[in-house]
Amino acid sequence: MMILLFVLSLAQAQDTANWQVVGERVISAPAREAGIRHLPLDLLIESGSKWSQATNLKTQLDKTSRILRQCGVVIGEVNIQTVVWNPKTLLEMENASPYDGPNELILMRTVQTPVLKTLGFLYGLNSVPSTASAYNRTSVRRLSSHTVDATPLCETFHITEHHMDYRRVPGANATYDTFAHELVHLMGDVGHIEVYGNLMSAMDGRNSKTGSLTTDQCALINQYPLIVTP
Ligand SMILES: [Zn+2]
Repeated sequence: MMILLFVLSLAQAQDTANWQVVGERVISAPAREAGIRHLPLDLLIESGSKWSQATNLKTQLDKTSRILRQCGVVIGEVNIQTVVWNPKTLLEMENASPYDGPNELILMRTVQTPVLKTLGFLYGLNSVPSTASAYNRTSVRRLSSHTVDATPLCETFHITEHHMDYRRVPGANATYDTFAHELVHLMGDVGHIEVYGNLMSAMDGRNSKTGSLTTDQCALINQYPLIVTP
C-alpha cells in the first residue's frame, strides 16, 4: 500500500511539474587568474534547442565572458539541466493574464528552494513566444508593488534561441551579445543608458549597441553578491 501511494504521488508530481529533467552536466569553472572573479550560473536548457548543442553553448558563454572580462569577471562553473517543458505549463503561460504579473512567474511556482545562483531559462523557438528578459532586484520590486509578488523571479533571465544572433537587435554590431546584456541587467541591477556604443544602450542607430561597458557599470557589476572569488 505504501509503495502504491508513493508511486501515485510520484506520477502526480511528474504531471504537475513544470519541466522534466532529461540530462545534467557541469561545465567546470575556468582556471584561476589574478584579478578575475567568477559568475557561476544555473541553466535550464530546453532539450533539442540550439542551446542544448554543446558547441553553440560554448561559443555563447565564451562571448559573454569576453564582454564581462572588461569588468574583471568571467562565467564560472555552469550547472546545466536539459529539460522538457510540461505542455500544460506552456499552455498556461500562453493564456496567462498580464494582470497576474509576468507569465514566467508560472515557471517558478514549483521551485521549492530559493534561487541562490543566477538562473537562466533558455528556450527553443517553438515553446514560448520570442523573449529576452531579466528580472533584477529593481524590476522585481517594481512589479511586486504594482501587480503580484514577483520575488521568485529575482535573478532569473529568459532567452529564446534566435537571440544567440546579435543581428536580432537593431543597431547592434558583432561585439554585442544578448546573453551578456541580460546578465548585466541582473549583475549591475541596471537598466538601459543613453550612451552610444554600449552593451546597455537605449540609443538607436548603426553600432549603437556594442560589447562595451562603462567604468560605472563595471563598478555596479562588481557589487553583485553572486560573484565568487575562486
Ligand atoms: Zn535590456
